[in-house]
Amino acid sequence: MKASNHLHALREAIHRERHEKCVEARLLRMPKKPGPVRYHARVQLRLPWLSARAAPMRVPREVVAGGRVFPLVVVRHRAARRYLIRVTEEGEVKLTVPRGAPIGAGVRFAETQATWILSEWTRLAGRLAWGDGTMILYRGVPQAIAADAGGIRMAGLSISAGPDHGDIRARVRAQLRTIASTELPARCLALAAEHRFEPSRVTVRDQRSRWGACSARRAITLNWRLIQMSDAVADYVMLHELAHLRHPNHSRRFWREVAAICPTWRSSERWLRQHGRELM
Ligand SMILES: [Zn+2]
Repeated sequence: MKASNHLHALREAIHRERHEKCVEARLLRMPKKPGPVRYHARVQLRLPWLSARAAPMRVPREVVAGGRVFPLVVVRHRAARRYLIRVTEEGEVKLTVPRGAPIGAGVRFAETQATWILSEWTRLAGRLAWGDGTMILYRGVPQAIAADAGGIRMAGLSISAGPDHGDIRARVRAQLRTIASTELPARCLALAAEHRFEPSRVTVRDQRSRWGACSARRAITLNWRLIQMSDAVADYVMLHELAHLRHPNHSRRFWREVAAICPTWRSSERWLRQHGRELM
């Protein structure tokens, strides 16, 4: 193969690869019900996200959520069917505006999502590397992690000694999980005795998407992250799971039982809805 031919083939391959990647990215963004066939054709022929029109447009806008200022980046997207917002790891709010839709309405939409933006940012920030000064929730109270030559400390706990911190996030979480593994089952069994429930066993796990569970074999599992919640919220989760021993469903009778043994359950539910994802 001549050199120029080779170059040409290479360019083609690069182009093809880019093209495929973009189409794939675009398809992922498509709504569940795909549009008409010509929509696909257009997706394959044009790559609008590479064109000038799809380039992020900086507007002098920002969204304030929880006292924090988030720069707002507006992106026009031909395929978007609705306004979408996303929080980036850089702390920007990306607003996707459908073709022909006014930006102002999108900005107003973003402003109504302040609670979600803040909670999403807290969740993302928690995933980034932890270091000296990182704040995390412990027993319902935000606590700063101290990491210096003496070691890692938090809320009176000595997590490690010496200047070699390793993965701070992993170490702190391991410590919290250890505390949770002894404390939570003891507390849950005390609550069970108080309200005459008889679980077969109580274990602590690293659940990704639930705070607790109650099996048909009467075994209760609790998420170690309960240790990050206030006592009131953690107690509610335990009482909720214990109540499932009598009502293995979310019927009215179940909720009556919960209200009887945990009168503050509504505020705990609200807290979990507003802040729960920050712990994940
Ligand atoms: Zn339940």
